[in-house]
Amino acid sequence: MPLVCYSRLRMTDYSIGVDLGGTNLRAAAIDAEGKILTKITGSTQYSSGRDAILGHIVTAIKGVQLQVTSGNLLGVGIGIPGFIQIETGVVIGSANLPGFDGYPVRDEIQRQLGIPIILENDANAAALGEQWMGAGRGVKDLVLLTLGTGIGGGILADGRILHGFLGMAGELGHMTVYPDGNPCGCGNFGCLEKHASATAVMSMARALSLGDLDVTAEDVYNLAVEGNPRAKAVFESMGRALGIALASLINIFNFPLYLLSGGALGSWDFFAPAMFEQVRKRSFTFSRTDTRIEKATLGNEAGLYGAAYLPFQLAGAEVVAANPV
Ligand SMILES: [Zn+2]
Repeated sequence: MPLVCYSRLRMTDYSIGVDLGGTNLRAAAIDAEGKILTKITGSTQYSSGRDAILGHIVTAIKGVQLQVTSGNLLGVGIGIPGFIQIETGVVIGSANLPGFDGYPVRDEIQRQLGIPIILENDANAAALGEQWMGAGRGVKDLVLLTLGTGIGGGILADGRILHGFLGMAGELGHMTVYPDGNPCGCGNFGCLEKHASATAVMSMARALSLGDLDVTAEDVYNLAVEGNPRAKAVFESMGRALGIALASLINIFNFPLYLLSGGALGSWDFFAPAMFEQVRKRSFTFSRTDTRIEKATLGNEAGLYGAAYLPFQLAGAEVVAANPV
């Protein structure tokens, strides 16, 4: 059974996906079967300002388009680290991107290029990418948690990104896991990302005197590999926070698959036991079904694939469940 149904697409169609990361900007032309036709990696600094960043995005898209010599460009999908008002393509909140707040990013890029543009939150795009070409293939309902300096989330229901009424759904890093936990930049206390991100691992390590101010999550991992009990405790704490969050998600959605991605996956063996212990303890649904919590497989490419999939989805591509339930 095909995983994706392309009834209204031509096989010569391709799209361009753009992923705006912290320091690099990647763009790729990808065909309807998920084959990367060409890919470029450029650099952009958030501090260079809105117009410069938008200019880099436009240049990257043009660069990719020039390298594809045949086929029909369906559209461009762009993953951006921020809140996006989906209907208007206006960024309505991005701590990292100066000058983007309230700016009609989609329409401005569209005006400069004359190509249909779809804007999406980067973690939502990554979830879609995993569903299209990664660990979520053939699964219509899934959740992705991206574990990085913060924690992002994407929820796919019936093959579609769950947007909420504005486009801000899926901010799973800001689920409360400890009511009186660490303060978060969002204004809340005890957010998941304050207890389970790489940044959280680093601050727990500092609190446990595992290194200097510049101790990294990788340093903590290396100490755990050497058997350091405090380093192991840091990852157990991270696993507990993740398990508490996942148990709630599983109880809410009853989806078959929950994926974790990001650099922290390398420490899976240290955090996963505590995570599964909490999920088993807290989720009736998990302990009585074959709900899966697994590693995502596309790494940094997920956002690129997902962004590129957006124009295909708009044109009528649909995920077909490999195991309909
Ligand atoms: Zn928060």
